[in-house]
Amino acid sequence: MKLDDKILLPETGYYKANLHCHTTISDGELTPEEIKEAYKARGYSIVAFTDHERYRWHRELDDENFLALAAYETECCDFETGPGCWPDQRTYHLNLYDTDPEKNQAEKAQSPRPPRRYGDMASLNEYIDRMNQLGFLVCYNHPYWSLQNYNDYAGLRGLFAMEIFNYGCEHDGLYGFHPQAYDEMLRAGQRLFALSADDNHDRVPFTDPLNDSFGGFVQIAAEKLAYESVIEALRAGRFYWSMGPEIKGLRVEDGVLKVKTSPAEKIFVIQKGRDCYKKLAPRGQTITEAQFPLTGKEGWFRIEIRDERGLYAGTSAYFPAEL
Ligand SMILES: [Zn+2]
Ligand SMILES: [Zn+2]
Repeated sequence: MKLDDKILLPETGYYKANLHCHTTISDGELTPEEIKEAYKARGYSIVAFTDHERYRWHRELDDENFLALAAYETECCDFETGPGCWPDQRTYHLNLYDTDPEKNQAEKAQSPRPPRRYGDMASLNEYIDRMNQLGFLVCYNHPYWSLQNYNDYAGLRGLFAMEIFNYGCEHDGLYGFHPQAYDEMLRAGQRLFALSADDNHDRVPFTDPLNDSFGGFVQIAAEKLAYESVIEALRAGRFYWSMGPEIKGLRVEDGVLKVKTSPAEKIFVIQKGRDCYKKLAPRGQTITEAQFPLTGKEGWFRIEIRDERGLYAGTSAYFPAEL
């Protein structure tokens, strides 16, 4: 089967975004204004403000080079472990990204929470469905930090994405990067994108090595920096995740998958099955492009690259049957 020519990710035209951020509105140390200033100075154009259980739309921060996405983070804990059992408590954390803050404002202002029934997958999926109806994209956050495993996430439905990397969790205990969870969700039949984010609380200064800002981001190929355009690009999966390296274009041409990157040690194409296409730089060197003939039988595939600093970037999964 020869796949049609298609651009999966453009070479240019990206807006850098942090899609998980806490401010003084919940348990973060910086105000929304301070977040905007710091992230703009680092080249970011978009921040989703995901304060705990507090839906907010900071449209007052918008300018021609900055866009605030209306959002919040909610949770559903394993209450059976009881008070005082925080270190062992499993929990679902979900980010809710508002696709149209002009709609259903009264209901969103109440920041609806999932039912407190940990383990009742049907009730959690009903909640996700209701949030989708209300206009939210729902992201499943940091499963590794949440002490969750396949049994907790294989049955989730209606998700827009999951966090493949969470920089704050990486600082907490080196449990911020969990590509295995994404692959397992895909192999369980879920259709969802992968993203990386800071989940910053900024309890120490930016100069401290334990500061949790600027380590996990997405690059979004939106037509312009406008709310509807960014949401359209997110829905279409026109973005990639990163801890630092860049993906500078991904396309299918004459049945060959062609990817360009910033200097990398390794470029991998992970698939539904065990087979993996790969190109590695000679030791001590780097590469910036790779090409892989596609059979069309990959089931799904996703790019993952690693640079010489040990930092990763990658794409969401693509399904050859639909290309
Ligand atoms: Zn969380
Ligand atoms: Zn968070």
